[in-house]
Amino acid sequence: MTVFRLFPAFILLGLSFSAGAQDSARQAVINAANAMGGVAQVEAVSSVRLVGYGHEAYQDGGSEITTEANAPEKMTNLTAYERVIDLDNNRTRVKARLFRAFIFAARSMMQGLPINQVLDGDIAYDVSADGNTRRGSEEAALTRRMDMLAIPLVAVRAALDNNSTVSNRRDQDGLTLVDVITADGAEFTLAVNNDSGLPHWVRWLEPHENLGEITQRAQYSAWLKVDGIMLPMSYNTVSDWKDTVMLRLHVDRYVINGAIDDLSAPASVRNAPAPVSNYSVTAEPVAEHVWHLIGNNGANSVLLEFDDHLALFEVPTNRAWTQAVIDEARRTVPGKPLTQAIITHHHFDHTGGLRVAIAEGLTIVTQGGNVDWFRELSERPVTKYQDALSRNPQPLKSLAVDDHLRLSDDSLTIDIYHMVSNAHMAQGLMGYIPEHKLLIQGDLFDLNWEVYFWGNTYDDNVAYRNLEVERDVPIHGRVTPTAEVHRILEQQKGNARALCSQVANAGLSMPGCPLAWD
Ligand SMILES: [Zn+2]
Repeated sequence: MTVFRLFPAFILLGLSFSAGAQDSARQAVINAANAMGGVAQVEAVSSVRLVGYGHEAYQDGGSEITTEANAPEKMTNLTAYERVIDLDNNRTRVKARLFRAFIFAARSMMQGLPINQVLDGDIAYDVSADGNTRRGSEEAALTRRMDMLAIPLVAVRAALDNNSTVSNRRDQDGLTLVDVITADGAEFTLAVNNDSGLPHWVRWLEPHENLGEITQRAQYSAWLKVDGIMLPMSYNTVSDWKDTVMLRLHVDRYVINGAIDDLSAPASVRNAPAPVSNYSVTAEPVAEHVWHLIGNNGANSVLLEFDDHLALFEVPTNRAWTQAVIDEARRTVPGKPLTQAIITHHHFDHTGGLRVAIAEGLTIVTQGGNVDWFRELSERPVTKYQDALSRNPQPLKSLAVDDHLRLSDDSLTIDIYHMVSNAHMAQGLMGYIPEHKLLIQGDLFDLNWEVYFWGNTYDDNVAYRNLEVERDVPIHGRVTPTAEVHRILEQQKGNARALCSQVANAGLSMPGCPLAWD
C-alpha cells in the first residue's frame, strides 16, 4: 500500500528560513523523541534496566556446518539477561549466562557461562564471578558502545545531544533516516517509522576480521509504554552478511530511573592499559621441511617446505596473527616464496587470516564447497576500516580439493583429504604427511577441550584413509603422540558422558545429550 505523505514536505517548509539539512535532520530525532513520550521526558531518564532472554549468533554466523546458503545458524542462548544503562554517566553493564544451543567443547559453554561486561565511557571491563575486574580491549569498548547505542532510547538521547551531529535526512520505504555522529565519534543511522513516529531501527558499522566490515541493524517491535516512555519489548539485530541474526532479545521487564549499581571503572581498571594481543610466533621444527608455527594466540599454523615454494596449513584467528605467521614463515625459510595456504575449514576462527592471505597473493587450498564463500568474503566492500586486502585488492586464487589432493615433490609429500563422519564440519580438510606419519588437523581433536561430543570421528577419519599416524599436529594445541591423543580423547568423552548423566539426573536437557555414539 502506498500512502501519500505530506510530513517531510511540511518539515522542510517549516524550517526553510532557519535552514538547513542539519535542522531538518535534528527535527526527525525530535519527532521520534516526541513519539516516545516527549523530548523532556526522554531527556529526564537517568537509568534503564532491561531484563530478558534471547540468543545471539555464534562467531557472527561464521560457524555453520557448511558454507551452503541454507546451512542453519548456530546460536548461543542468553538467559538471566540484564542490561543496565546509566545514561547520566554514559555507562552500561550486561550480565547474562551464555550457553551454546549446539554441541561445544567447553563445559562452561554447555552449562551456562556467567558474563558481566561493563562499559564506562570508553573503558570496557569485565567482572568475574569472584568479583575480580579486568580491563577489556579497545575493540570490546567499541562493540559495547555500539550495542548500547542500539537501544532506541539511548540512540535518540545521543542524537538529541547538542554535541552530536545529525545529518543527511532522507526517506526510504516509509522510514525517515538520519545519520548521527556522537561527540565521542560513534556513528550510526537512525530510522524513524513514518507511521508510528517511533524509532524503527539503528544501523552501524564495525570492523571485522573475516568480513572486513560488518553492518548490523537492530530492529524494534512490540512497543509498550513504561513510566511514560515507549520502549520495544523485542529486538532483532541482523547483519548485512547473509542476513545473519546477530541477536534476538525478548524483554520481560524494563525499570526506568530505578536504583542502579555504580558502574564506574575501578581505579585498577582505569589505570591499566587496554590489553593488546601479542602476535609473536615461534617456528618449532616437527619433521624435515615441517614446522609448527605457534605463539600465545590459541591457534597455530603449520609451515610446509617444498622444493621451490612454501605453504601454510591454516591462516587462523585474525589478520594480525596471520600476518605474523606469514612473516615468521618467510623468516624460517628465506629465499623460497610462500605461495599457498591450505585451510582446514571455513569457521571464522580458522579463517580470520583469509583476507591477509589473499592480499599476500597466496593460493587458497580448500575443500571445493568453500570456494564461493571464500570469494564472497574477499570481495566484500570496505568503506571505513581498511585492511591489507581492501588497500591491495586481489582476486581469490584457489585450488579446490574434492576428495583427495596430493601435493608432492622431492622435499615433501602431503595428502589432503576431505574429512568424513564429522558433525562439526562437512567441508573440512585434514593433511597427512606419509613420510613422517603426521596428521595435521583442525577441530578434529584439541587437547584443551573439556567435553568431546564428536564420538569416533578422529579414528573414523584415520581408518577411512588407512593412515598410520604417529603424531598429531593440531591447529589448536601442541604436537601430540597418537597414544596420548587417544588417552585424552577417552577422558574428554568420559567428561561428556558425565555431563549428560548430570543433565539427565537433573531432569533437564542439553544439546548432544544423550550421546549419539555411546
Ligand atoms: Zn571449527
